[in-house]
Amino acid sequence: MVTQRALGKRTGVHYDRAAMPTVLVVGAGHAGLEAAFAAARIGASVLVVTGSRATIGQTPCNPSIGGVAKGHLVKEIDALGGFMARAADACGIHARVLNRSKGPAVRSTRVQVDKRRYGEHARATLLGTPGITVIEGLVVALSTDADRVCGVVLGDGSRIDADAVVVTTGTFLGGILHTGERATPGGRVGEAPALGLSQHLAALGFVLRRLKTGTPPRLDGRTIDYGDLEVQPSEEPTPRFCWADDPAPAPATLAQVACHLTWTNPRTHAVITANLSRSPMYSGKIVGKGPRYCPSIEDKVVRFADRERHQVFLEPEGLDTHSVYPSGISTSLPGDVQREMIATIAGLEHAVFLRDGYAVEYDALDARALDHRLASKDLRGLFFAGQVNGTSGYEEAGAQGLVAGANAALAVLDRAPLVVCRDQGYTGVLVDDLVTQGADEPYRMFTSRAEYRIVLREDNADVRLADLAHAAGLVDAVRRDRAHRRDQAARALAAGQPAGIEVTPALAARADAILLYAGYEQRMRHEIARMHDERADLPLPPDVDYLAIGGLSRECATRLAVVRPSGTSQAARIAGITPAALACVWAHARLLQRRARQSEPATRFAAVAD
Ligand SMILES: Cc1cc2nc3c(=O)[nH]c(=O)nc-3n(C[C@H](O)[C@H](O)[C@H](O)COP(=O)(O)OP(=O)(O)OC[C@H]3O[C@@H](n4cnc5c(N)ncnc54)[C@H](O)[C@@H]3O)c2cc1C
Repeated sequence: MVTQRALGKRTGVHYDRAAMPTVLVVGAGHAGLEAAFAAARIGASVLVVTGSRATIGQTPCNPSIGGVAKGHLVKEIDALGGFMARAADACGIHARVLNRSKGPAVRSTRVQVDKRRYGEHARATLLGTPGITVIEGLVVALSTDADRVCGVVLGDGSRIDADAVVVTTGTFLGGILHTGERATPGGRVGEAPALGLSQHLAALGFVLRRLKTGTPPRLDGRTIDYGDLEVQPSEEPTPRFCWADDPAPAPATLAQVACHLTWTNPRTHAVITANLSRSPMYSGKIVGKGPRYCPSIEDKVVRFADRERHQVFLEPEGLDTHSVYPSGISTSLPGDVQREMIATIAGLEHAVFLRDGYAVEYDALDARALDHRLASKDLRGLFFAGQVNGTSGYEEAGAQGLVAGANAALAVLDRAPLVVCRDQGYTGVLVDDLVTQGADEPYRMFTSRAEYRIVLREDNADVRLADLAHAAGLVDAVRRDRAHRRDQAARALAAGQPAGIEVTPALAARADAILLYAGYEQRMRHEIARMHDERADLPLPPDVDYLAIGGLSRECATRLAVVRPSGTSQAARIAGITPAALACVWAHARLLQRRARQSEPATRFAAVAD
């Protein structure tokens, strides 16, 4: 074992443990970036240990940020002072608002970014942020002391100490890449998997499950015949995630490019069907569960056998590359079959491959082992965020990273936690779903997951989260007050009092949404307030012995014991918990509360706070 100073010499990075408590972030993907920035912003000293500096902030799949419900998450990341929204605005080359024909509550911004510029921007920002040190290395284990995590161990046996650790290892835990009959260990193409860490987490008692995701081949745009294809231009004016009047200067907009639309056809499907036995998914080689809502093309052809065609969006990956991402046809079929299949698609008859598509199978944590801070219930100081928690997508990863990184910093600085509730944001829905239900297939956000979606719109993300963000130290008072002023202005506009208000398109859209939903919103807010009053959330400590609670069925007790809910309202949302079981849990929580009052006062988060 070597000391930190020796490690500094070995890596060329001088890292002395700072005077401030240290949050160590493992990984620098989308979750890792947000975790590091949030922790640094709150005031912790941050150390990022990642497999490769070159792949910081990489977008290994579709270089697109946002989309239905995901755009809501990105706007919330911005409201919480995060990175992704500003980076996407700075590196966007095609932008649209999806669901324009539907109500404003479900409209979502989607920005396609320049892949290279996004990665470079992420790298430069991470390396240039004061208080953040980046070290290249592969973490193979956590170092622990009784019930607390106190650092990490690298592949060469060196140890780095820290006050809290945030694990954001994406698809790397036990990762295997599949293309046809070929299976190679890897987290993504060109990067080694984190085998040791996966086994180590299992040995610590974390339950891991096997999941799978995939990516399509990349095509050379110069060999695509766009002549007869439908063009999809970027919208004018360019939709953005950030408010242009926020204090930090708004990032520049790059030149915008067009996407094109083409379709698979019965010939494409015939090629796939004839070669299914060579697909690792159908030959039984892949055991991990893939994303139901973002299936591979072979999955689509099998599951929707009656469909004659599936759409394929051709999306340029950047301004100075010819690489094109054919969205909608991720595949792990062998390379020769991929080529035969692509050649059947209009416009792609002569398309040259830059890279084959592949699937990646990996271990993900059962996130029911975490609380609403995304902290382990068993090992203090340990946090998890991103794809490692069973989600899919950059936005879900980023939102979790922000929550975990902020809470790691708040915990080491001995401050109150940041918990976003389900009625405050999609971020709250995401975290609550994960820690309550877990994910037995890659979880992606949808507007239908949010029961309060009328009030959780993209247009009001800033004001919904302004106070929480400021209380946690993620945004300053100027930014918080600006969010409130914008809301007041939009409400005045909706009430027909435009005097003295500079009416931007974004403000006008918000005023329209306020008007449209006035009735619903009032009812929903009333309902939320009533719920908070009548069904006050009683805390449930993590060591409750549910099997010993009288009147509780064994099945319900087992479900509760797996999730170990932080309070009665989380218990109520666990699948399979009956009203009768809930009544028993309530009675027990009240009993605990009475006992606690008799001894010493308890706070809502006493059970989970470090
Ligand atoms: C092939 C492929 C296809 C995908 N397809 C889709 C899709 O269709 N739709 C979709 O929404 N999402 C897709 N994704 C997922 C998307 O890329 C992720 O959801 C997102 O990148 C997750 O962010 P993250 O921060 O959790 O992990 P990542 O972005 O994967 O970042 C993980 C980071 O951890 C580092 N790391 C890993 N292990 C260690 C270790 N032991 N020590 C130190 N550092 C480590 C890595 O170097 C990397 O920096 C795909 C991903 C891949 C690889």
